[in-house]
Amino acid sequence: MKTANPSAAVTQTELAGLRASFAGRLITDPSDQEPFTIDWRRRYIGRALAVALPESVDDVAAVVRWCAQHRVPVVAQGGNTGLSGGATPDDSGRAIVLSLARLNRVRSIDTINNSIIVEAGCTLDGVREAAAGAGRLFPLSLPSGGTCTIGGNLSTNAGGTGVLRYGNARELCLGLEVVTAEGEVWNGLRGLRKDNTGYDLRDLYIGAEGTLGIITAATMKLFPQPAAQITAIAAVADPHAALKLLEMAQDQLGASLTAFELISDLCLDLVVRHHPDCQKPFREASPYVVLLETSDSEGEAHANASFEKLMSDAIESGVVADAVVAQSIAQTQAMWQLRELISEAQATEGKNIKHDVSVPISDIGRFIDQTNALVEARFPGIRMVVFGHVGDGNLHYNVSPPADRTGPEHEAWFLGLQPEINLLVHDAVAAANGSISAEHGLGQLRRDEAARYKSPVEKALMWRLKTALDPLDIMNPGKVLAP
Ligand SMILES: Cc1cc2nc3c(=O)[nH]c(=O)nc-3n(C[C@H](O)[C@H](O)[C@H](O)COP(=O)(O)OP(=O)(O)OC[C@H]3O[C@@H](n4cnc5c(N)ncnc54)[C@H](O)[C@@H]3O)c2cc1C
Repeated sequence: MKTANPSAAVTQTELAGLRASFAGRLITDPSDQEPFTIDWRRRYIGRALAVALPESVDDVAAVVRWCAQHRVPVVAQGGNTGLSGGATPDDSGRAIVLSLARLNRVRSIDTINNSIIVEAGCTLDGVREAAAGAGRLFPLSLPSGGTCTIGGNLSTNAGGTGVLRYGNARELCLGLEVVTAEGEVWNGLRGLRKDNTGYDLRDLYIGAEGTLGIITAATMKLFPQPAAQITAIAAVADPHAALKLLEMAQDQLGASLTAFELISDLCLDLVVRHHPDCQKPFREASPYVVLLETSDSEGEAHANASFEKLMSDAIESGVVADAVVAQSIAQTQAMWQLRELISEAQATEGKNIKHDVSVPISDIGRFIDQTNALVEARFPGIRMVVFGHVGDGNLHYNVSPPADRTGPEHEAWFLGLQPEINLLVHDAVAAANGSISAEHGLGQLRRDEAARYKSPVEKALMWRLKTALDPLDIMNPGKVLAP
């Protein structure tokens, strides 16, 4: 494979050519580039030759053609909320960051086909609002929804809390418009639910983190708005009881079950400590709680009756110790806040080590028991901050230092444990036939670790695809695939 030439070879005259056709839309001053060259968690600090702000698919194609001509790497960027460093250029200063933020039009909504065509830079919440305005639900929902973009969601195959019922970004996508690594435009926006005419190119670009091409627009699925939604929190003794509750909920509620989130008591401790306006749901502490949501197509009375039956059956059979059902929008929001503030509370508490893993749903209880025991035995006093989208097998399996070693003076010691803790956790995930990145992608954060767990055949196939679709290696080089 040919590699991109250092852009030291790009002369100022050549860059001036791009600047002329992008008047006012090419940022070359490093201080103005900062919001685009540092990642959300400020873990990666890169440099760029320029940041391009195209406004149309033709603009995107023109930038990519220029990059191909001069062998300049292109780093696509949406809202820059990614958690794996995929949207941050390296520190060589050779790359163009291509921001999709100005491609933010809703092109059309079809309430019969139940689909919406949106440009890549539309924010996730913007797409949800546009769908709601047409009386439809766009079910992808992330805490970063006000900033992240649909192009970024597709490129990371984002998940969130609704995957259990509606699937991840890939499953919500009916078609894509893509600018290829040569700067050609592939229009695959047909909103078809059935199309068996050869290789599924759409599926190649989804989850590729900008390493194969640039997504400029997408046709996404819409759904009818539910007639009623009910949220509840149930106290369970351990993750095994949570899985029993999941089985009961799926039997009784079927497709109405739209969220099933496991939260350990330590997570709730952190939230109430750092957000004094939040309260734990039960007077007596429970080792774990489950946050459930049901979306009912028949109405409030039906939803309430189904939910109450589930909870009373679960309490009677000893699966659930106690349960509380939200009686108002304010109570619903308060319940969701307990879940959504965990990451922030853990960050306020101090440095932590994060893992975004998935294992087969039925194995979650055993995985947590055994891996907690393994990590706690090796590092006594360490705190396991375990929560996640258990209904789809995804755990945010985080680690905080012992409560008496949280100050800045302990940070270097704790972060020094990271390689060993990652290895313990990710080896346990691999042994459980799981994935070391369930919904955040590989970017630069997990690139080399992923190479440890993928088979030689899988790695070779991925490289062959990369070489075929990006022969000059200019599309986000150095991300996803280890050299
Ligand atoms: C507070 C918070 C909560 C979060 N919660 C969740 C969660 O629950 N579930 C979850 O899955 N994620 C979550 N995330 C992670 C993040 O929001 C998602 O990964 C999101 O999909 C990234 O979208 P973005 O537009 O910000 O992409 P960026 O960060 O800009 O880019 C991410 C990757 O996609 C590539 N890319 C971006 N746009 C394009 C494009 N148009 N074409 C080709 N490649 C492109 C980039 O090069 C990069 O590799 C959270 C992040 C934060 C900060």
